[in-house]
Amino acid sequence: MKKILLVQINKVDRLILQSIVDVLLERKFSVNIFPEIFHISINAYDWNEDKYISDIILKKFQSRFNNFPFDIIIGITDIDINNTDNFYMKNGNIAIIPIKNIFNKNNVNLSIERINKIIFYIIGMYSGIDNCKNYCIMKGFKNIEELDSLPLDYCDSCMTRIKQNNY
Ligand SMILES: [Zn+2]
Repeated sequence: MKKILLVQINKVDRLILQSIVDVLLERKFSVNIFPEIFHISINAYDWNEDKYISDIILKKFQSRFNNFPFDIIIGITDIDINNTDNFYMKNGNIAIIPIKNIFNKNNVNLSIERINKIIFYIIGMYSGIDNCKNYCIMKGFKNIEELDSLPLDYCDSCMTRIKQNNY
């Protein structure tokens, strides 16, 4: 199984992070929370757009965590990022999930489930899976409705590949 490090970018509610981790641990993933907050400097802010610039954040995050001994390093942030069409951004072994658009304060459980589905999908991608045809998170999703319609789970064949994938 992949070794995963979760990092909060700026401040993310600790309870939300812990709920995310609990689900991953339940599924026997190896996951740690980085004890510090990764702060984004104001240099990454686009004052015209009133949003942070995803490319700068990704680059800074990558240079900070590049050499950490984890297979996947996932940053979670609820700041406003200019790359809102994507559920995640990724580069090398680094991925960032902006949760602002998928988080619904009136339904925290659903929101956490959405974040975990995206994390499951990212783990699957890093395990070399794409485009599963089964009822499975690896089927992929283009919008929030599709994301909500998928299970927080892998089909048997994807699960086997994720377990085998130990490089
Ligand atoms: Zn599958």
